[in-house]
Amino acid sequence: MPGKLMELEIYDTTLRDGSQQEGISLTVNDKLRVAGLLDELGVAFIEGGWPGANQKDTEFFRRARSELQLRGAVLTAFGSTRRPRGEVGDDPQLLALLEADTEFICLVGKAWDYHVTEALRTDLDDGLRMVGESIEFLRSHDRRVFFDAEHFFDGFRANARFALRVLQTAHDAGAERIVLCDTNGGTLPRETVAAIEQVRAAIPDAPIGVHYHDDVGTAVASSIAAVEAGAMQIQGCINGYGERTGNANLSTLIPDLQVKMGRKVITGDLGLITSISHHVAEIVNITLDPHRPYVGTSAFTHKAGLHTSALARRPDAYEHEPPANVGNRTRMVVSELAGKASVLAKTAELRLEVSDLVAGSVVERVKELEHQGYHFEAADGSFELLVREMTGWVNPYFDLRSFRVEAERRADERIFSKAAVSIAVGGEVRVSEGEEVGPVHALDTALRGALRDDYPGIDDLRLTDYRVRVLDSKDGTSARVRVLIETSDHESSWGTIGVHENVIEASWEALADGIVVGLLRQGNVAASLR
Ligand SMILES: [Zn+2]
Repeated sequence: MPGKLMELEIYDTTLRDGSQQEGISLTVNDKLRVAGLLDELGVAFIEGGWPGANQKDTEFFRRARSELQLRGAVLTAFGSTRRPRGEVGDDPQLLALLEADTEFICLVGKAWDYHVTEALRTDLDDGLRMVGESIEFLRSHDRRVFFDAEHFFDGFRANARFALRVLQTAHDAGAERIVLCDTNGGTLPRETVAAIEQVRAAIPDAPIGVHYHDDVGTAVASSIAAVEAGAMQIQGCINGYGERTGNANLSTLIPDLQVKMGRKVITGDLGLITSISHHVAEIVNITLDPHRPYVGTSAFTHKAGLHTSALARRPDAYEHEPPANVGNRTRMVVSELAGKASVLAKTAELRLEVSDLVAGSVVERVKELEHQGYHFEAADGSFELLVREMTGWVNPYFDLRSFRVEAERRADERIFSKAAVSIAVGGEVRVSEGEEVGPVHALDTALRGALRDDYPGIDDLRLTDYRVRVLDSKDGTSARVRVLIETSDHESSWGTIGVHENVIEASWEALADGIVVGLLRQGNVAASLR
């Protein structure tokens, strides 16, 4: 089997356990796309879902048969053992698993006596028969079975004898992996290792897998400890998705295992993991935390001035791993802590040629602006425009002449905002209006309308994030507002900033800068020069 090529297997459950996270709702199309990405990364197993438990998963397996061409990964179906005191032959769950038509099935069963008596309301002997008979039934239909021992670590703590008997039963019935699950997520690494050692002593020939939830923040650490203790299958989810605090984060674990422990666990290129983690985040529609290990946009970001000048010379002194190994990159952020060296490093990253003298004045200007409430760490787009302006560059695309924004609450309680902008493009006046619910959105629509004829590429630029913060002020009535906007095209994204007492003016500043950077990156020629 393909999974066997690896002595250590990655079993991804993003599509089943990961999709239990609040706010994640994947369509069948989404699931097919995520499965394709996981296959590209080269995990051994992709758990597609729980057929029979919901319509969508049943449909996923039906469509996967014809639409999903996996290169190396193996698709598995997940389901539970037969009903208490029931028969395997007419158990709807087991029949749905057969219908999913996968060679491999991951079957979950109770390993904690308390759950057998309290949740299933049956006796412990039936609990064991549920496991054994269900596995034998699937095996008699030529399925290969992994056994997820639910609540194993809690069960082992409460009644080790029963928990081990459950594992032995699954092993004897022909399960090819005995997966120890920390379903409630409360087990620390040391306890995990002790339990795994006892399991290996009790059932020496059973291949062990592990499945951790991150409720005490140690799912990754426990998975690593389990590998060291001899586990050969690691279950987890891309970006650590999952119920409550999530599952073991494969975006961290895969690089940990592969680059730190020298264990090859994926057949694809590890350099894909950053882009695949971001791509999956886009599909589930949750912004990826920039501070995530390896794959976050800040994972290799440097700030302090002293440190950046040394970093430019010796990156290995400040980075635990060359970011390119995981498909990420070094980023410099500029703040008032920064000296000339980090300005030069940042301009080099932006491919702008800047003299020492200009870099010195940029540092001075950044200090002044930060004093007024600007903050360039998340506003690399505005920083780029600032540097360009310090070299004498002038925005060639448009000049603002005026704007007007009004908001209205109508008698039927509907809210409207109208904006009108007047700009000059190559000396010619362009006027446009926008009507939306929010005033900034209306302003954005109006600006785009005014630019569209001259710069049709404007529609490829998307406003992806808008954040407002009121800055501390001694005089509450004239508090300044800081607006941060993120704009992106298909390849990259950039932040821009505006600061003003008036939130609309601050938004305009950030909005207009975002568009100017976008027009620059698209390589537009100014209308006045055509
Ligand atoms: Zn789980």
